[in-house]
Amino acid sequence: MGDEHYIATNFSIGLTEDFLRTLEVARVEPEGLTEPGVIDRLLKSHAVEAADADVDDVMAARILREDIRKLFERASEIDAVKALSDFLAGADIGVRLQPSEDGRFSLVPVARSHQDPIETLRSLCLIEIADAVSRKGFACLQTCQAAPCQDAFIDRSKKGGRLFCSPRCSSRYHVQRHRERSKV
Ligand SMILES: [Zn+2]
Repeated sequence: MGDEHYIATNFSIGLTEDFLRTLEVARVEPEGLTEPGVIDRLLKSHAVEAADADVDDVMAARILREDIRKLFERASEIDAVKALSDFLAGADIGVRLQPSEDGRFSLVPVARSHQDPIETLRSLCLIEIADAVSRKGFACLQTCQAAPCQDAFIDRSKKGGRLFCSPRCSSRYHVQRHRERSKV
């Protein structure tokens, strides 16, 4: 590993995808964001510190989720760049150095607005998306092609061109295709 890898950034914590997945159109009951505890558990599962969410935060989180989802369904790259830049202008983010066992350090994002779980969620999702876009371009913001699933995902694969949110959707898609072809 070259020296250029000595300081790694670790903004890709998977929070954005887990957050967006609280709404799954393919589920019988699509809305998973039904009570404040969902927000608390989401943040906790990614080791993010924030104040407990309250009832009002549920609606605020749903609106935020829709805003973030739009970045994955952008009409054009110009629109997406503008949306993301506007978003980032308001992001309240700090960074800290996190030591690892081999004596190296990672640069890890920290949301400053600890008192507000929604602002914390907003800042960390945005920095995660901006980091992915800066490495892979806007094409890495994708939605699953295995209908009826429409889950958003960040394509972090080396080559790019990932079409499905999960191995499960990928195999479902291919089984379906195979069936359709053998019908003809
Ligand atoms: Zn999927």
